[in-house]
Amino acid sequence: METSIKILDKTFVPFIKEEEISAAIEGLADRMNDDFAGVSEENAPILLCTLNGAVPFTGALLTRLRFPVEMAAIRVASYLGTESTGEVRTILGLEKSVKGRLVIVAEDIVDTGNTIEQLCKTLREEGAAGVRICTLLLKPDVYKKNIPLDYVALRIPNRFIVGFGLDYNGFGRNTRDIYVLQ
Ligand code: 5GP
Ligand code: MG
Repeated sequence: METSIKILDKTFVPFIKEEEISAAIEGLADRMNDDFAGVSEENAPILLCTLNGAVPFTGALLTRLRFPVEMAAIRVASYLGTESTGEVRTILGLEKSVKGRLVIVAEDIVDTGNTIEQLCKTLREEGAAGVRICTLLLKPDVYKKNIPLDYVALRIPNRFIVGFGLDYNGFGRNTRDIYVLQ
């Protein structure tokens, strides 16, 4: 019998195991290594970590990439508790110039797509040469935007999850497995 976890007022049950997460990231890295084979430092992409949720994913992915790549971070927020607010706020802006660079956005999860839409707009305004979206998780039943999702590791139904970076009101990020709201 697998154990549930309690975060603040809610109970979460095991959903995706560490091994499955690692295998999915490995598969994603293989594809990216094929797609970016031959790039040099002069045309290296920037892997943009969307703080805080994508920290474990970005770290796991980064160490599996076999081509020259730089890293940067940005912090945006759209969720309050277990609901998307529809409004995307930038909490911490870009600290690195993306002008003329190909940016690979590393997201923990794409839900409505409001966040990546806002990010793509910001990156274009900042002069990025191109944007690719790379996400650990996707809720395909909710995502209705036209922005192509270049790299998706795992697809899940429209449920609220925590763990491996994903939080409930700031807590629950520090688990290796992913849990779903009971
Ligand atoms: P979107 O803007 O695509 O609706 O939502 C993207 C952001 O909302 C994600 O980066 C994540 O921070 C948050 N989010 C969406 N779905 C979930 C979920 O099931 N669990 C948690 N913890 N956060 C989520
Ligand atoms: Mg996020």
